[in-house]
Amino acid sequence: MSDKHKSVVVLGSTGSVGRQVLAVIDKHPDKFRVVGLSAFTNEQLLREQIEKYSPERYYFPSGGVEVQTTLFDFLDDDKFTSRCARSLEELASYPADITVSAVSGIAGLWAAVAVLERGGTLAIANKESIVCAGRHLKALEKKHGGKIIPLDTEHSAIMQCLAGEDKKSVASVVLTASGGALRDIPVDRLPKMTAKEALSHPVWNMGKKITIDSATLFNKGLEVIEAMHLFSLPAEKIKVLMHRESVVHGMAEFTDGSVKALLSRPDMALAIETALFYPAKGSAAVPPLDLASYGTLNFDAPDLTRYPCLGIALKAAKESDGVRIALSAADEVVVDSFLRGKLKFGDIAVILGKVFDKFRKTGDVELKDIFGIDAAARKYVYSMGVK
Ligand code: MG
Repeated sequence: MSDKHKSVVVLGSTGSVGRQVLAVIDKHPDKFRVVGLSAFTNEQLLREQIEKYSPERYYFPSGGVEVQTTLFDFLDDDKFTSRCARSLEELASYPADITVSAVSGIAGLWAAVAVLERGGTLAIANKESIVCAGRHLKALEKKHGGKIIPLDTEHSAIMQCLAGEDKKSVASVVLTASGGALRDIPVDRLPKMTAKEALSHPVWNMGKKITIDSATLFNKGLEVIEAMHLFSLPAEKIKVLMHRESVVHGMAEFTDGSVKALLSRPDMALAIETALFYPAKGSAAVPPLDLASYGTLNFDAPDLTRYPCLGIALKAAKESDGVRIALSAADEVVVDSFLRGKLKFGDIAVILGKVFDKFRKTGDVELKDIFGIDAAARKYVYSMGVK
């Protein structure tokens, strides 16, 4: 009997994106079947998810950041151990129809590689892997006949705007940015802002790291670099447009002066459905968009004085892999420190600026060398006294 369900592995199933992916799957029990799950720290929620979905495989690292005492109960329980993968890569190798990578950080890189090496479909929200290894991931996609589908709202929108278009006719693509939690704070007050203030995002409900990256707009710079890799475009052809309502998610501008845009209510469920149903359209992602209720949509050029981290990332987009890997790693350290109250908001750009100068000339790198640069950048940030 053939199974009409698409089988789905969700790497990082207890994080913000992972939970949203499962919520979308829950709306389509006749279409998808969860066959694999993984978490890094939230053992309790993973256990609940395993009970609910009964996946064939799961992964939870015994070296997780906040290993709880109950972990040993978890691993002693035969029902669970028999399905436990030995590594995230092993779980990623499982022959699911779709593997979602909602893992946070460069830790997700080898899992992404494992999916593409088996010619699988990778729905990816793990932006650090695309930023650091996008060239390699695209080469693996081509070599093994797999498919990379972006889960980020902006890239999902651009993918849909570019569908069926001749690449030669694409003049540029546009990523929109809401401006983050501090967008209306006077510029001179920004340097002293705290994590609590930077975490109250006006539009999007996301994980903590990405919410801070949205407040600095470093996130949008990383998305420019992702777009270069995902759509094989030079940095010059990728633009950032401030748009506070987050209704227009992405656009493609063509050589004849026409523009295609993708609009919807701001809800990540749309990008998730788009990826899960690809190449078909989903059916229940978001309620219809009532543009009359908005009345006005606002657009502005980004102000690099307000958002120096965006400026740094845009400069890195014009350089090579090495400095992007260094900045991505440094940002993980700096944002973590900021979230723990050890740094002020203004320190983030100062430190990333120094990392840019130090690693600017690192050049392009092979996959195996990424973690070396990542470690060197973290060490450099710690050498500045960041805790
Ligand atoms: Mg985004």
